[in-house]
Amino acid sequence: MSQTHARKVETFTADEARVDWHSAALLALRDKRDLQAKSLPEWEQMRETASRMKLYVLSHLPELLEQFTSNCEANGMEVHWARDAKEHNEIVAGILKERGKKKLVKSKSMLTEEVHLVPHLEKHGIECIETDLGERILQLREEPPSHIVVPAIHLKKEEIGELFHEKIGTQAGASDPTYLTHAARESMRQEFLSADAAMTGVNMAIADEGAFVVCTNEGNADMGAHLPDLHIAVMGMEKLVPDADSAALLMRMLARNATGQPSTSYNSIFGAPRPGCQLHIVIVDNGRSLRMADRRHAEIYKCIRCGACINTCPVYRRGGGHSYDYFIPGPIGLAIAGDNPEANSEAWACTLNGSCNNVCPVKVPLRETIAYHREQLAQQKQLPYHKNAYMPLAGKIFGSPRGLSMAMAAARVGLRIMPQTLQRRIGGWSKSRDFPKPPAESFAHWYRKNRGE
Ligand code: SF4
Repeated sequence: MSQTHARKVETFTADEARVDWHSAALLALRDKRDLQAKSLPEWEQMRETASRMKLYVLSHLPELLEQFTSNCEANGMEVHWARDAKEHNEIVAGILKERGKKKLVKSKSMLTEEVHLVPHLEKHGIECIETDLGERILQLREEPPSHIVVPAIHLKKEEIGELFHEKIGTQAGASDPTYLTHAARESMRQEFLSADAAMTGVNMAIADEGAFVVCTNEGNADMGAHLPDLHIAVMGMEKLVPDADSAALLMRMLARNATGQPSTSYNSIFGAPRPGCQLHIVIVDNGRSLRMADRRHAEIYKCIRCGACINTCPVYRRGGGHSYDYFIPGPIGLAIAGDNPEANSEAWACTLNGSCNNVCPVKVPLRETIAYHREQLAQQKQLPYHKNAYMPLAGKIFGSPRGLSMAMAAARVGLRIMPQTLQRRIGGWSKSRDFPKPPAESFAHWYRKNRGE
């Protein structure tokens, strides 16, 4: 049985310096994002328009998917449909094997994490090289990403220096980021030149053009897709937008919200295969249509994967991305995972503070969706044991002014005479926090005394 979220957070928080550094790095991204948002007077209007546009997509998905498919085919691409992860992986392996391809360079795609593509292709003897720098670092470390935009944010430059020394022969003890990046670039170039197929994700699929947009900061997707004669693009079916104007709106928001840049450095629109080459698109469902049918879950498919909700989340910032079981961490991961028992303990880690809602460029109701999943888990009797025991009692106490007042009086006495015992008994959350000094009287009592009835 896997460890709970709380247990994994304990492992991460054992290194206090790392926690502070990790949190500060993410807060810096959040600050840059805020500056960008404030620099555009029309930002809130853009959020509203983007949210409505994505709602339109969700409510017209079958027509838009058909339109996208027929336009892609008219443009010379081959479109494949995958019902689930297994089908997706078989389709990709089939395309590569039929053409005798042995080495695939791939740019970052959370979808391929979702369907566990790389181990599947390796079983078929196809080598896969991650070309996004963060993803490549993790591939060399044999570790999953800890963030959807900055996948190696949990690592220090010294750790990357050691890894590169061992794997690609950089100088021992070197940790200068510019030196390490140049070394990675050299080594990656050989991989690009020797690959015979490329894979990219899709940031936006433009229905009325039969084209798709790929945004990166490193140009690795473009480099990969323009060298070999085979390009496979994979996308979840929610990546659709109706037209190029809608894609442009999301492109204006994506980098601003993700990393605080006005734009990603490379934005490519793929509209047809290059002469003599092949371009395949695999469109994946993998449970999406079922979940979209649930109105209280559907809106998470407005998400454009900017990662801003993760950067702002206090639980993520101080707990690290590897404390989550679900392949996407943070608020959007919790919301997508839904009532998935694998992510049960994570749903309870959320404080429901709503900071994620405030930064989301497409207004995904993250807090409400996470609360909904807690409701579902409770109805399915999947509450963690202790919550099962005390939540009904807490409900009764909080539902009665008299009960609440008595419980608070008892807590004040308890905190005064045996704070350590209480702290130990409550466990988890209280282990690494000091309780406040209890007030001498309740607020209600103080109010009656000072302000009258
Ligand atoms: S839910 Fe919103 S803020 Fe979070 S990753 Fe998706 S688009 Fe970005």
